[in-house]
Amino acid sequence: MASHTEQSAVTVLGLGPMGRALAGAFLDAGVRTTIWNRTPGKDRELVERGAVSVPSPEEAVAAGGLTVICVVNYDAVDAVLRRDAVTGALKGRTVANLSADTPDRARDTASWAAEHGIGYLDGAIMTPTPTIGTLAGVFLHSGPEQLYREHKPVLDTLGGTQTHLGEDTGRAAAYDLALLDIFWTAMAGYAHALAMARAEGITARELVPFAKGISEILPWVFEVSAEGVDSGDYTDSNNPITSAASSMSHIVHVSESHGIDASVMRAAEGLARQVIGQGHGGSGFLRVTELLNPR
Ligand code: NDP
Repeated sequence: MASHTEQSAVTVLGLGPMGRALAGAFLDAGVRTTIWNRTPGKDRELVERGAVSVPSPEEAVAAGGLTVICVVNYDAVDAVLRRDAVTGALKGRTVANLSADTPDRARDTASWAAEHGIGYLDGAIMTPTPTIGTLAGVFLHSGPEQLYREHKPVLDTLGGTQTHLGEDTGRAAAYDLALLDIFWTAMAGYAHALAMARAEGITARELVPFAKGISEILPWVFEVSAEGVDSGDYTDSNNPITSAASSMSHIVHVSESHGIDASVMRAAEGLARQVIGQGHGGSGFLRVTELLNPR
């Protein structure tokens, strides 16, 4: 169990844009913050604000408190943590890994940590750097609940919403990937819509008010469809997948008539047509979920 002093001290390994934002928020909250980065020179502003910068990750870990690591991916996490000096310094301490990667990599890191007597929490940050230390930040955590509770006071100083998703260490990464799946597929659709709109003489500025309107339908769709998706009931008499496939084919037709690649929409229409081919033309579009991963 960490002492009060330990809870009000933190080490941040990795000073990319996100690591710097995390360290800055800890400093703003008055937490004693020790920092390290592989490439020197990214610590200046944080040192001016009161951080202690040290030349090696093992020294940073030994400074006490929770070790937060936030680097590009888990290959980088391994490169930093799985060295004898660092692993030794971490023994009996806890790491909160806020780097992004896959659920299996998170579980593998948890097994490695357990073998070396290191407490391990995995996490994902769902919002960009300007939100860190504000109410808008969204942090997901997974791993032993007791460990999460122990370190919650220092994690809470990052602000925003902190959610513990369960003891399975891979859960935060799994939520992260599912949420980023929504985000990047939507961004691919938006980029395509902008290209097609431009070909039709519509600027991004002109489209924005209506783009916002259509994106606001999505939260409602998520909410009303959840029980049906979980139970396998995809009935949607107001918006059958046959109608969705028809509207998708118009998008494919118009964009290709302008010489614009429509492969993303072609893929979505193809999935819808497969569902119709299975005899589920009266279902809503989310029946595609069942096609992709039959229960
Ligand atoms: P990057 O994803 O570019 O990560 C940069 C950091 O990773 C630097 O500290 C860099 O060190 C370090 N790094 C890379 N390779 C290695 C290595 N082999 N050994 C040691 N350190 C290494 O930038 P961010 O800081 O923005 O992101 C960090 C994590 O936060 C990522 O997993 C990202 O997905 C996640 N995230 C970022 C958000 C954002 O808005 N930026 C939003 C949500 C999540 P060096 O300086 O030496 O190259």
